[in-house]
Amino acid sequence: MRQSRLFAQTYREAPAEADAVSHRLLLRAGFIRQLAAGVYAYLPLGRRVLRRLEGIVREEMDRAGAQELLMPAMQPAELWQASGRYSAYGPELMRLSDRHGREFALGPTHEEVVTSLAREEIHSYRKLPATVYQIQTKFRDERRPRFGLMRGREFVMKDAYSFDADPAGLDQSYAAMYAAYEHIFSRGGLNVRAVEADAGTIGGEGGTHEFVALSDIGEDTIVSCSHCGYAANLEKAEAGRAAEAGKTKNGSKPTPERIYTPNVRTIEELAMFLNELSSALLKTMIYEADGAIVAVLVRGDREVNETKLRARLRAAELTVAGADAVARVTGAPTGFAGPVGLNVPIYVDREIADGEGWIAGANERDYHVRGAKSGRDFSVEETGDFRNAAEGEGCPRCEEGTYRFHRGIEVGHVFKLGTKYSEPLNATYLDKEGRNRPLTMGCYGIGVSRMLAAAVEQHHDEAGIVWPAAIAPFRVHIVPVSMQDDAQRELAKSLYERFPAAGIDALLDDRDERAGVKFKDSDLIGIPIRIVVGKRAAAGEVELKLRDRPDSMALTVEEAFKLVF
Ligand code: ATP
Ligand code: MG
Ligand code: MG
Ligand code: MG
Repeated sequence: MRQSRLFAQTYREAPAEADAVSHRLLLRAGFIRQLAAGVYAYLPLGRRVLRRLEGIVREEMDRAGAQELLMPAMQPAELWQASGRYSAYGPELMRLSDRHGREFALGPTHEEVVTSLAREEIHSYRKLPATVYQIQTKFRDERRPRFGLMRGREFVMKDAYSFDADPAGLDQSYAAMYAAYEHIFSRGGLNVRAVEADAGTIGGEGGTHEFVALSDIGEDTIVSCSHCGYAANLEKAEAGRAAEAGKTKNGSKPTPERIYTPNVRTIEELAMFLNELSSALLKTMIYEADGAIVAVLVRGDREVNETKLRARLRAAELTVAGADAVARVTGAPTGFAGPVGLNVPIYVDREIADGEGWIAGANERDYHVRGAKSGRDFSVEETGDFRNAAEGEGCPRCEEGTYRFHRGIEVGHVFKLGTKYSEPLNATYLDKEGRNRPLTMGCYGIGVSRMLAAAVEQHHDEAGIVWPAAIAPFRVHIVPVSMQDDAQRELAKSLYERFPAAGIDALLDDRDERAGVKFKDSDLIGIPIRIVVGKRAAAGEVELKLRDRPDSMALTVEEAFKLVF
């Protein structure tokens, strides 16, 4: 592709509201453009990366024996009513009606549709096991679409569904998908951990694992043991810990530990949550500014484990930002916490403010509350103890190691559903003895567009994106220093024709720009190999630079070719 014709431009600055590195870089480098909150267009560069990712996913799904199909995004409401999810799914489900007043949902996921298909296509045990998948656009009216492609309202998902005769069969199908996921993420160049997850509302009989790309921007907190292989998301780890506490270790009576439910939905819950944190450790201030609530935790005179605190805040879906961000929003000076100052500002949606009103006379703009007390200033139901899974505590699994916390992005999820959908939707098969039995199902999702963003979170530097080779939009970036120079222009063009003929994608920067501008854009776009055609073009020499390495090499054209292959 010729860069002079590329349907995109690059920007020096990202829009102020783009607050994740991946979001900023993908906008600046011309990969994506926002159309509405959580709704994005993929420009040619972005589309190419998405296709690469889809290609890897497709290959590994096919290799695991899954069959590709394509289901409609538009799904009749009756199907969702039959599974009971039409109301249970809540406002995240995008709903619409046709000209006859018939109701539909735009699919956030496809358990209902695929189960209705299986009901028609699978009648006998002879057709089992079967796994199908699709790569398709999903719709979820997320409460807080953010971080660009990370949490969109329209996004690309690979979803697969397995059908087995019984739970033992499901175990095998599940294991095959689990293995395929490991291949997909490692081929895509992502540093991903599989963690045990909580079954949550999807229900199901057996296991569920999340695949989490490690990243500080991630909204998920995972816990891993320093000794054994145990790794789980925070909710699961706490559930496990509570179960262990019930078993009793040192002979004391089992204490029924409560698990903190990480759902801060009202200002009162926020205040209570903060108050719990602050009672021993911190002072709390809550501000309203710019239509958001900003809570600031100021370190008190006691020791605070910051990692643990941040993990807690993340578990409660509270965004943690730097002190300068809170200064920007509240106008408070960055250092206002004084010499002990650790400012942990938390942004909360306007929705929370709209929910239940304000606490303790704080209903005025920029008024703040210090140390609001549950029972005195507000009353809420106790939601539990947040202190029951501290960093450094012993691992309940092996009792040897200690817990470590990491933040990450959920890029994949595998789930044993059992008969949760096949029973209500009546998807059955005849077993060997001629008995009618419900299909045993599993479901397996990968956020393909989220993976794209996660890859950028994990692979970038100050200058731009550093694409892993397997998912880069092009393999080679040919950059002639001056298009006015005949030798440079001709050599660059001949390379540009030779690479694709050999099956290697190349982007040619044939713009009449200054070399500095071209190099900046090249770093920003992040193609793995850059071939600079400069002064020594007449002698058939070029410079080759790898995006992830600082140095470059002077090579003959033939040497450069050999290296690229
Ligand atoms: P999250 O916890 O981030 O809301 P989820 O658990 O609701 O995700 P699943 O129902 O498990 O998501 O969907 C399968 C995969 O789809 C997720 O693992 C994630 O990678 C991706 N995904 C889910 N929601 C979004 C979204 N709003 N934007 C982009 N990708 C998403
Ligand atoms: Mg979700
Ligand atoms: Mg999730
Ligand atoms: Mg999930």
